[in-house]
Amino acid sequence: MYSTSYHRASSLEDAAKMIAGAEDGKFVSGGQTLISTLKQRLAQPSDLIDLRHVSSLKGISVDGRSVRIGAGVTHAEVASSTAIAAVCPALCHLAGLIGDPHVRHMGTIGGSIANNDPAADYPAAMLGLGATIITDRREIAADDFFTGLFETALEEGEIITAVAFTAPDKAGYAKFPNPASRYAMTGVFVAQVGSGARVAVTGAGSDGVFRHGGLEAALASGFNPDALAGVTVETSGLMEDMHCSAAYRANLIKVMAKRAVAAA
Ligand SMILES: Cc1cc2nc3c(=O)[nH]c(=O)nc-3n(C[C@H](O)[C@H](O)[C@H](O)COP(=O)(O)OP(=O)(O)OC[C@H]3O[C@@H](n4cnc5c(N)ncnc54)[C@H](O)[C@@H]3O)c2cc1C
Repeated sequence: MYSTSYHRASSLEDAAKMIAGAEDGKFVSGGQTLISTLKQRLAQPSDLIDLRHVSSLKGISVDGRSVRIGAGVTHAEVASSTAIAAVCPALCHLAGLIGDPHVRHMGTIGGSIANNDPAADYPAAMLGLGATIITDRREIAADDFFTGLFETALEEGEIITAVAFTAPDKAGYAKFPNPASRYAMTGVFVAQVGSGARVAVTGAGSDGVFRHGGLEAALASGFNPDALAGVTVETSGLMEDMHCSAAYRANLIKVMAKRAVAAA
């Protein structure tokens, strides 16, 4: 047994003070990752600071092609947002593929990207969209935010408040889900921006989510599935685990990329 003190923050300032005053505090949003981590004793924080009642972390706004999603917005809210669907339906599709209804109604976009699970879906979307991660201290480009397995650029006590991006001309997401957890064994998010393309891969990299330069170059010369036919996806740097080999994942990257482009 170990004891943890629970605190309900009602504002960002409140949350920042609470974490600063805690010996070893942790924020909790949807609890869909953190609570099971606590149950398994993989984390034993002295204090839990609940962000769910901080109203400034809620809400979705779409202004023209500019999208801003509060960190406390649930996966279900993104999946069902007609405002996001009007400019970037791929993101609604991706959110609707996360876990099961319980996970989607509790889990938040802020919690998902702060956690940066190597098989999570949102990191691929943030990287593929070239999003900006907004915190209570600064703005961080997605390219600089995801730094490794379960690692991000967040500093001690830093709170993600929102994510923002400009909707691309076209975007698509395809994932090969683990049949038990629905996490991505490989997921690929593609976006066409002007004459260029961004391709972000989750579930496959041994260092977490990454962009694939070869697929991006091929799509820049023609944004269609056939443009990817000649691209070789190397196995180096890919995960090999009980679910599948690196070679299998390399194949999945290409197949999922083609499907994502077709969906876009
Ligand atoms: C059965 C199951 C299936 C799942 N399947 C999928 C899936 O298919 N795809 C997928 O992507 N995910 C999946 N998940 C994970 C799910 O999406 C979680 O919701 C998500 O990873 C964490 O979000 P959360 O809001 O629950 O965060 P929490 O569990 O509350 O927190 C996670 C971490 O983020 C930190 N944190 C939370 N909010 C903030 C913030 N605003 N600023 C800074 N740090 C913060 C916490 O301190 C903690 O370290 C699954 C989870 C379960 C239980």
